[in-house]
Amino acid sequence: LSEKRQKVVIIGGGITGITAAYYLQKEIKDKKLPIDYRLIEASHRLGGKIQTMKRDGFTIERGPDSFLARKQSAARLVKEVGLGEELTNNSTGQSYVLAREKLHPIPQGAVMGIPTEISPFLTTGLFSPMGKVRAAADFILPKTKEKGDQSLGHFFRRRLGNEVVENLIEPLLSGIYAGDIDRLSLMSTFPQFYHAEQEHRSLIFGMKKITDLRQKSSSHGGKAKGQFLTLKTGLQSLVDAVEEHLEPTAVQKGVRVDSMHESDGKFHLSLSNGEKITADSVIVTTPHYAAQSLLPQCSLLQPLKDMPATSVATVAMAFPKEAVKQDINGTGFVVARNGDYTITACTWTHKKWPHTTPEGKVLLRCYVGKAGDEAVVDLSDEEIVRIVLEDLNRIMDVEGLPEFSIVSRWKRAMPQYTVGHKNTIETIYDQLEHTMPGLFLAGSSYEGLGLPDCIDQGEAAVQKVLNLLQT
Ligand code: FAD
Repeated sequence: LSEKRQKVVIIGGGITGITAAYYLQKEIKDKKLPIDYRLIEASHRLGGKIQTMKRDGFTIERGPDSFLARKQSAARLVKEVGLGEELTNNSTGQSYVLAREKLHPIPQGAVMGIPTEISPFLTTGLFSPMGKVRAAADFILPKTKEKGDQSLGHFFRRRLGNEVVENLIEPLLSGIYAGDIDRLSLMSTFPQFYHAEQEHRSLIFGMKKITDLRQKSSSHGGKAKGQFLTLKTGLQSLVDAVEEHLEPTAVQKGVRVDSMHESDGKFHLSLSNGEKITADSVIVTTPHYAAQSLLPQCSLLQPLKDMPATSVATVAMAFPKEAVKQDINGTGFVVARNGDYTITACTWTHKKWPHTTPEGKVLLRCYVGKAGDEAVVDLSDEEIVRIVLEDLNRIMDVEGLPEFSIVSRWKRAMPQYTVGHKNTIETIYDQLEHTMPGLFLAGSSYEGLGLPDCIDQGEAAVQKVLNLLQT
């Protein structure tokens, strides 16, 4: 009698979807499970927001350029697919905040803007004497009594005052989420800050303790390494290597899942090529709004419809070294919102990631687009490059136009974890488990948008599928 095989469909071939496919296939093979899977990706390539471009000897990341080394799942996946040799840490160097028309070095010891060393904060020109005194109130303020979620802005303004928030913390944190810190959720983005305050009362003191511990456990007496990792061959090479490990017949590119419904514990999917397929379990790794539109009739997913996502664009510009007349001694800067700049951040990519740039050249990568200022993303490439250069020339001296520039637009690409996000997602996950077992959501819209967070979610979704199908 032939064994009954079960079917799993993974929708979306970004990092979350390909990770899920990779680990699911591995489990199927290792344990000889009677399961078939299919990975369905709407576009003609895998990788989603990971996209590397090679041009004239440059390696240009159009989306993410690296990942946090501390979160180990990404490096583990890289090694699993045979690319361990290509891993490289960023070069460490001074980073700056552009505030009040000037680049200010980020004070030494600042962890996401929170001081953990006192003297660099006393001497920095980033804050007025009053701003510094206000930040020191952190040492005496009681811990927050709020038990639920709160906005990052509310939390930090209360502890450290508006000036430290606006000139340092806001540009650093909103750089990661392209969001508005007065709307972003503390518990979904940086719960460690809340826990540090709860445990130590003073946030400064708590973060100092945590960093001291981290430094002790990671110090091997050698030179301090950068805290980010990337691949010398470009992040797309991770995607390509994972794809090479997948059964080609299991991967379907250029086909969109148009809709889906559940009946009698099975999922029925309609694809853009007219095909209909039935699955026992589905992992949806598309952005949240696409997930919701697959199942418009499912009231449980309605909150995803209202979840905001910000549009951003990256602008990579290549110059001959001589074109940059007045350089900065560092690896880049973030921009405080209280000025009238359009760029939100700029990386001296040739310094932070020397492998990306040929000898004698300079590669700058700037960001535009943030919550409340996304219209810039819709301008033409020429217009965006012109605005970016105008901004840059207010603080450095760049001569002429770039040899080439690459503008990459990312529409609704940065999901915004607003206050209450964690609760909303936990409720959705919990209720899905009861009302639609077999349907799993994973990816940047839910439990972290860094690449390692997406990889963790892809792996976790595979375990949930296997737990369900094997019981
Ligand atoms: P995606 O990459 O969005 O993949 C989802 C896939 O689903 C897409 O390929 C899409 O085509 C497909 N899809 C959608 N609808 C359907 C459908 N109906 N049927 C089939 N397929 C569908 N993170 C870091 O850790 N480090 C960084 O340096 C960093 N920088 C970033 C810079 C930028 C400009 C951006 C935009 C993000 C950055 N991030 C960074 C975040 C990180 O890149 C993303 O969170 C992550 O890549 C998202 O992966 P994902 O698999 O969840 O989603």
